[in-house]
Amino acid sequence: TQELHIVGGGMAGSEAAWQAANAGVRVVIHEMRPKVETFAHKTGNLGEMVCSNSFRSDDDEQNAVGLLHWEMRQANGLIMATADRHRLPAGGALAVDRDPFAETVTATLMAHPNVSVSYEEVTALPEDGNWIIATGPLTSSALGAAIQAETGAEALAFFDAIAPIIYAESIDMSKAWMQSRYDKGETEEERTAYLNCPMDKDQYEAFIDALLAADKTEFHEGETAGYFDGCLPIEVMAERGRETLRFGPMKPVGLTNPHQPDVKAYAVVQLRRDNALGTLYNIVGFQTKMKYGAQTDVLRMIPGLEEARFARLGGIHRNTFLNSPTLLDAQMRLHSKPHIRFAGQITGVEGYVESAAMGLLAGRLAAAEIIGAPMPDLPQDTAHGALVHHITGGAEAKTFQPMNVNFGLFRPLDGMKGGRRGRKDRYKAYTDRAKSAWSDWLAAQTSVLA
Ligand code: FAD
Repeated sequence: TQELHIVGGGMAGSEAAWQAANAGVRVVIHEMRPKVETFAHKTGNLGEMVCSNSFRSDDDEQNAVGLLHWEMRQANGLIMATADRHRLPAGGALAVDRDPFAETVTATLMAHPNVSVSYEEVTALPEDGNWIIATGPLTSSALGAAIQAETGAEALAFFDAIAPIIYAESIDMSKAWMQSRYDKGETEEERTAYLNCPMDKDQYEAFIDALLAADKTEFHEGETAGYFDGCLPIEVMAERGRETLRFGPMKPVGLTNPHQPDVKAYAVVQLRRDNALGTLYNIVGFQTKMKYGAQTDVLRMIPGLEEARFARLGGIHRNTFLNSPTLLDAQMRLHSKPHIRFAGQITGVEGYVESAAMGLLAGRLAAAEIIGAPMPDLPQDTAHGALVHHITGGAEAKTFQPMNVNFGLFRPLDGMKGGRRGRKDRYKAYTDRAKSAWSDWLAAQTSVLA
């Protein structure tokens, strides 16, 4: 039988190993810890949680992360089963006791007859065999360099610079309007690719005051070592001068507000479409290290965004990730070396749960390929499907930044009403649709995977 090699025994690598091993494939996990350390990991355990001990919401009817939990449990996921076993009381969230959690993940994999672990750093891209690379946000520098040599420097980032992402439907279009600067673009779609929110002088001054006063997070010790090349957070731009943003991402030129054609805006915040579905918009140039609570308060001061709902908040972190929309196929294989799959945070998803979910998929897909059994197509209307579709095809490649799972990634449902009540019904309908598609997909594999 052929072996599957998995580089990295974190959230994604552990789950991938479990899924493939259960399908009858022999798996070797290559993990560099504890020999080679990262600035965030503290142990040599597989499945170590590097920061918070939360897998976020466990609500599988109204929350997209909760839906991912549900799908992973249905697929006999190791990360979810272990999280459930070491669950701590935390209201609607799934919090876990981190050390016993990682110890159980490690012991369970070590006890599996099809799994072995080799404690070593992998420093080059393998030329043959079946591989999954799941080395995470802190991929070692030697392997990072090897990946960059394969993909080109532009296609592998070492920091993310995440601007907040907003649900399009929550933007007040009686204040905002669609227009590209100087109406640039060949097509009507391009000429209206941006959504603009105008500010007068008082609003701008109040916004700058709030930015300067907001609580910020700091980089961890060791996080920026030799890397961060300065994609400035908006609050740092504001610190450099009260006018800096007005001459930078908030410049008001080349735009006319159809709601007030005679009034020249003092500053304009621009949002850009973030996915092909047009359900998500990011705020252009607004990467920030403001704390989450402060971000929502400050950003809702922007005219048109008073009621904004956020699909994800901004951040800047040390984070090694691929430009997956250009590099990976729908099965997470590298176009240029299809014997190598990527999984986990390095594919441009963000978070423990999303990373483990991408490991679950990669493990199953790799196992099916090794066994030589055709895998039924993954339905896009599942949480796994929506997320993998986003990173490998739905997202804008040019501005690609890591993504959390959220309902904005799901194909819209026909005929569902807006508003708060409507939203509850819609989320329930999304999760119902996903559960049924996921169950069918798993059932169709029983003949494929053992
Ligand atoms: P990891 O879990 O990091 O696993 C990757 C593994 O690969 C590691 O064990 C590493 O040692 C190993 N490895 C790396 N390079 C090599 C190599 N060359 N050879 C062999 N092995 C290698 N997510 C959250 O959901 N909540 C949080 O609070 C949170 N906080 C974070 C804080 C920090 C400082 C960082 C860096 C990330 C944080 N994340 C958080 C993101 C989190 O890291 C991911 O969600 C998750 O751990 C990613 O899973 P993964 O399997 O892709 O990577």
